[in-house]
Amino acid sequence: MKISARRHIEHHRTARIGWLRAAVLGANDGIVSTASLIVGVAASSASQASVLTAGVAGLVAGAMSMAAGEYVSVRSQADTEQADLAREGRELAADPAAEQRELTAIYVGRGLSYALAAQVAQELTAHDALGAHARDELGITDALGARPLQAALASALSFTAGAALPLAVAWLAAGPQLVAWVSAASIGFLALLGMLAARAGGAPLLPATVRVALWGALALGVTAGAGALFGSVA
Ligand SMILES: [Zn+2]
Repeated sequence: MKISARRHIEHHRTARIGWLRAAVLGANDGIVSTASLIVGVAASSASQASVLTAGVAGLVAGAMSMAAGEYVSVRSQADTEQADLAREGRELAADPAAEQRELTAIYVGRGLSYALAAQVAQELTAHDALGAHARDELGITDALGARPLQAALASALSFTAGAALPLAVAWLAAGPQLVAWVSAASIGFLALLGMLAARAGGAPLLPATVRVALWGALALGVTAGAGALFGSVA
């Protein structure tokens, strides 16, 4: 396969891995926080209705806070990018020759001969000066540009997808076995997600799977303990 074709596929895989990893992390948060909430409330001997209400409230609250947090952080990244681009535009207008020399130096730094670097800088500047500086000096490209709303929606959806799993188990497994069922199922879901994330990133499967399952089990255990303790004193 021609190198450029392979690079093209590689580039798409890298972009896909980024999104997959964010989705897996969002779902992971959804499972751990909602399952722990359900197990904690159930361990306090609350009624089935209270357990499910807490689970639904936890899902909605978690999804909204993920969306809000993601929107605010990506929005500020977008603001920074916009400010950088505006400053770059001013510098280009103020001293185009110096900016072209800067671009030439960037290409020389990447291994081009001075003559070729100067020609590339001259032609790219003539074609789209701000685009060339944005991409090669600031590292801002259309593909990687900050999209706050998309990011917020993606993290809210992945959190919701994760949270819905233990909630469904809690709904199906009403009764004294609820804590055991929700805990076992959630650790299973987490292990599956850990495997998926490791596979997507090309990392060894077992350590990643065990790691995420252990942390999930720890979160469930501590919350169940707190719920039981609180339930006994309340
Ligand atoms: Zn510049």
